[in-house]
Amino acid sequence: MQAEKEAERIYEHAGVSLAWLDCPLWPEQAALYSACQDASGPAKLALRILSQSMAEHLRLDKDSFGFALYPEDGSFATVANVFSHDAEELARRRGLPQRVMLGHLMAHELGHLILGVRSHSANGIMHVPWQKKELEMMAQGSMLFTPREGQTIRTNIRARRNADLAPR
Ligand SMILES: [Zn+2]
Repeated sequence: MQAEKEAERIYEHAGVSLAWLDCPLWPEQAALYSACQDASGPAKLALRILSQSMAEHLRLDKDSFGFALYPEDGSFATVANVFSHDAEELARRRGLPQRVMLGHLMAHELGHLILGVRSHSANGIMHVPWQKKELEMMAQGSMLFTPREGQTIRTNIRARRNADLAPR
């Protein structure tokens, strides 16, 4: 998937390498793929790419292109949703390749999982809304995490990996 490569590039700038595992959304189908059965954990995030009809059911507000789920018990957030249809529409309206738009959206929502609540920022990929300036930066490949966010991401990923390795 081309959008995955785009998200990978963004995380590489933050010093993190992503490894993707493409799984079906429905548990019955996922059961057919052994690697998908244990799909989430502190360092194994699930990014759900939702179709238009699924998005209609879940949409929180009209301008939202996705959202991250934060567990109420304060444990590591591992699931985020992306509304790919909306991203594709916006890409089409603004003349941006779809893989670029979707890749940035995926990186943004994963960013919410790793950076935690209230992770919107004044600059870079965690800035919202995405207007002309942001879309131009995306096209140029300069829409990235800030150096400070990069540092937090690396710290938090280390903590998640340690939690993954710890006996339960
Ligand atoms: Zn956001």
